[in-house]
Amino acid sequence: MSKRSLLMIPGPIEVSPTVLEAFQGPPPSHVAPDFIEKFGRALEMMREVWCASADSQPFVIAGSGTIAMEMAVGNLLEPGQRALVVNTGYFSDRMAEMLRRRGVQLTEVGAEPGSVPSIAGIEQALDARQVDAIFATHVDTSTGVRVDAQAIAALARERGVLSVFDGVCATAGEAFEMGEWGADVYLTASQKAVGVPPGLALMVASPRALGAREALSEPPPMSVDWQQWLPIMNAYEQRQGSYFSTPATNLVEALHTSLSEILVYERGGQHGTQQGISARVAAHTAAADAMRAAWSRMGLEIFPQSPELAANTLSAVMYPEGVGPELLADINKRGVIVAGGLYPGRKQTYFRVGHMGHVVTEPELLLQTVRAVAEALVENGHDTDVGEAVSAAAERL
Ligand SMILES: *Cc1c(COP(=O)(O)O)cnc(C)c1O
Repeated sequence: MSKRSLLMIPGPIEVSPTVLEAFQGPPPSHVAPDFIEKFGRALEMMREVWCASADSQPFVIAGSGTIAMEMAVGNLLEPGQRALVVNTGYFSDRMAEMLRRRGVQLTEVGAEPGSVPSIAGIEQALDARQVDAIFATHVDTSTGVRVDAQAIAALARERGVLSVFDGVCATAGEAFEMGEWGADVYLTASQKAVGVPPGLALMVASPRALGAREALSEPPPMSVDWQQWLPIMNAYEQRQGSYFSTPATNLVEALHTSLSEILVYERGGQHGTQQGISARVAAHTAAADAMRAAWSRMGLEIFPQSPELAANTLSAVMYPEGVGPELLADINKRGVIVAGGLYPGRKQTYFRVGHMGHVVTEPELLLQTVRAVAEALVENGHDTDVGEAVSAAAERL
């Protein structure tokens, strides 16, 4: 079926065969009854996948993760307001730059590469300077670390400030209880753990977040303005066609299929059968454990400073002694595409393997990836036992 190598990068990712089917075919009209039904249902399902409250507002617009970030920044804050960025790497830097361009005054709290700022450190920064919103990257795609989103959201609530999470490399692959935790915006893009081809910017906003938009005196650019999009999202949820700017109709149909697949997913385990988003997150956790067991069996270190900090959705793996980026081509020769490093100044020291979306439900694809990496390492002179690396992963799947 596949016309290219297995795509194991941190997005775009392999999509399931049913999602692929939903995406193909002639473009539907944005006001066709069948399309309206799917769009409306997709919005409802987003609340379930985001674990968001009934009064939260999902948005789906054509665009990338970066557009989703822009939408969050522009609708929540205006020039002269203040924000704190919990900076864990490449995409936190991008968020900080967007905030600066909006004229927002910034405080950044950083950490060593491969680590995350402590909650106490964030609290101290808030004591030193009052802010209007806290921004954090749930999973940093450059280092493979995950922040404690629950604790950050709780801290924001305690201080009465908004919390915004860039979930582009996390949503639908990491636990995130938007309603329960009291987060204000959780944003992502279609091509990561949500499991759809690239082209949709997705987010859910809390009522507090919508209130922040209403209070702005300088609105964001029209194309990303929640006030333009709100009536459109409401119309589709009420099963009426509407128009502000053309939705990516094929992709919305694929989103409908992927979210449906996520929500009917079942997984047996020690504690009985799990269903829906919690089962899907558990499958990501198991896949990540399996991949880390394989790296460890191959004698490889990971970029995150401890396994507790390591994300479910990707591995950032250090090259062993004597091996460098030339490894990627040797992995690719074996039918698997992985990614190079991304952290500024460290790109040549590690590589990244995505394990999110459909592949976490297909153990053979994960094992094929482990085998390709292990064989390529052997070819590059690293002493490792391919069979043992594969069984270390298999035992955990
Ligand atoms: C991929 C990614 C982005 C950017 O998404 P694009 O669709 O490439 O614009 C932003 N944040 C994180 C955490 C990501 O992983």
